[in-house]
Amino acid sequence: MGKGGRVLHLTRRGRIVVGITAAGLVSAVVLPLTLGGGSTPTAAVVAPSPAAATTAPPPTSPAPGTGTSPTQRPAPTPSPTAPQHSLTDPTSIWVVVNKARPLDPRTYVPPDLTSVGDGQYLRAPAAAALLSLFASAAADGLSIHADSGYRSYTYQVSVHDNVVASLGQSEADIGSARPGYSEHQTGWAVDVGGDGCEIATCFGTTPDGRWVAANAYRYGFIVRYPQGLQGITGYEYEPWHIRYVGVQLATAMHATGVQTLEQWFHLPAAPAYLRSS
Ligand SMILES: [Zn+2]
Repeated sequence: MGKGGRVLHLTRRGRIVVGITAAGLVSAVVLPLTLGGGSTPTAAVVAPSPAAATTAPPPTSPAPGTGTSPTQRPAPTPSPTAPQHSLTDPTSIWVVVNKARPLDPRTYVPPDLTSVGDGQYLRAPAAAALLSLFASAAADGLSIHADSGYRSYTYQVSVHDNVVASLGQSEADIGSARPGYSEHQTGWAVDVGGDGCEIATCFGTTPDGRWVAANAYRYGFIVRYPQGLQGITGYEYEPWHIRYVGVQLATAMHATGVQTLEQWFHLPAAPAYLRSS
């Protein structure tokens, strides 16, 4: 597709067009404004595609309590176009990390870590996007900041060990990622706070949190652990944890109402770790 559809967003590289196929599937395509000679493909289909999940079988079952479950949407039409970014390469903006998909290698350290203030760091593209998000929120009279960005493998070892020591392994595994399984280790995820609510569910009801939920996609972020989807993501509702996936994918997910990367890429739900470490 790509001829019809509604122009959603203009980017430096092209315009994102969202259209609806005969099957009712909404998909998005970047139509280049110029033909570049770089490594970026000139067109990229980001619609859900079974081809995108080559390392995993189709989803097992819908998560409980998902309401109008996006998993009930029609099966996507296989796309001849491969996804623009890897789902397994830890350097990829689309890498999917969850309790069934550790980083490879687990001790991965991202390049180009860049300050986002408050002593926190993200990969350079995510850092630039987050600072733009902060600036826009500030222009709307809000004050959002970074509570926790990149976290190293060794840091996560100490964090998780401490939580295990106080809560036990099974309780710790619910809310604290094991080392090598944390999205924070990719440099693409950040916990944000504001309105006196830091890393707590109250953030979702504050003006800052509502603004993040409504606008993060414009800057390429998704709220990674939505309410009621713990059966898919493995984590309870975390309105403060946002993940950079790029404006193209974040916008397409926003437009279609697909809330999780697992559902978008037709990956198995990851409600818990597969085995003890
Ligand atoms: Zn987080």
